[in-house]
Amino acid sequence: MNYKLWIIILFIVVFLYRFVLNLLKLRSTHNEIPENVADIYDAPTYKKWCAYRTEKCRIAIASSLAALVVDIALIATDAYAAFAGLFPDTVFWQLFAVLLLSTLTEIVTLPFTYADTMKIEERYGFNRTKHGTFFADQLKEYLITLGILTLVTWILALLYRWLGDWMIAAFAGVLTVLILGITFLYPLLSRAFNKFTPLPEGELRDKLTALLTKHGYHVRAIEVMDASRRSTKANAYFAGFGKSKSIVLYDTLLEKLTPNEICAVFAHELGHGVHRDTFKTQVTSVLQMVILSVLAWLTIRTGSLFPAFGFTGVNYGFAVLLILSVEFALVAPLYGIAANALSRRHEYRADRFATREGYGAELISGLKKLVKTDFGDVAPSSALILLDYNHPSLSQRITAIEREMQK
Ligand SMILES: [Zn+2]
Repeated sequence: MNYKLWIIILFIVVFLYRFVLNLLKLRSTHNEIPENVADIYDAPTYKKWCAYRTEKCRIAIASSLAALVVDIALIATDAYAAFAGLFPDTVFWQLFAVLLLSTLTEIVTLPFTYADTMKIEERYGFNRTKHGTFFADQLKEYLITLGILTLVTWILALLYRWLGDWMIAAFAGVLTVLILGITFLYPLLSRAFNKFTPLPEGELRDKLTALLTKHGYHVRAIEVMDASRRSTKANAYFAGFGKSKSIVLYDTLLEKLTPNEICAVFAHELGHGVHRDTFKTQVTSVLQMVILSVLAWLTIRTGSLFPAFGFTGVNYGFAVLLILSVEFALVAPLYGIAANALSRRHEYRADRFATREGYGAELISGLKKLVKTDFGDVAPSSALILLDYNHPSLSQRITAIEREMQK
């Protein structure tokens, strides 16, 4: 089998899938706006949104095209094997060399990410990231990713040497522990990027605490994150597990929403918490880890794969590269459709929870404000929602909330 040709074809298929997604996003600028969300943007603002969406999609397409060219060039010229040849012949250095060279793709797409965050977002008035913060963020993110990838690949290599084919179960276990660990550590990690302060005492905090008490829900803290340092976009989320759990509100949320609207958004988040949605998402992510492990096993035991790219034997770093950028990239959309469908059901249920708390009207007005400040899509096509949206469209949510309010 001509592995090299096949891998290049698969890279192109992955690119084409992303291309189609971007085309669908571009096309949604021509969709008719549903009536219940028609008041979000006035005509000039909507025109501006369409221009914004078009620019974002174009840069995303250009960026993935640049990445594709680099990926194909590196694969076609056996560059990975040649570069790995410069490093000592141990598993650790071999995988490190490959992962290091794959940074080239990151470097090539960096100007596009820069243009996206610093130019486009800035031109439309969302960006508050300073140059220094942007590069520091990119570097921190890159180093964290490289660290995690190196660790995972190294563990994969050890497990395969020790356990052979039995590595699937062990590797899935390791990945799951790691994923849960990251979820657990996320509040700590995000502290490397942002400042957190407790929500000041007052009416809002009393209302939120009353909601928590009513549902017997315990959190360590209600915190405000200084998201406005990076963007004007607003959000709220639960972080951590069990007793260390905290609720994080973006400072931008507090700026833009009325106290009752904040309560509505908070009640929505509490709905997720009460129904243990995060936990369920984590359970489904275990399935994802099993898929990854099976792919890893299939890749490593296909010994004839590696010489096709210039390696003398199995290179675990190269295996992980293929698994993540080709194999999993092809499986993930299929898995994503199912996971997104589940997530959209969770969103509807969390909306119902907030509505039953008496916040239906405030939830609608709050969500409208959020979509407006996030400069979100008000008319996504059903194909785009099916493929790419983990939330229902705003119009769908409002219809469901209004139905619930009439009960
Ligand atoms: Zn939600």
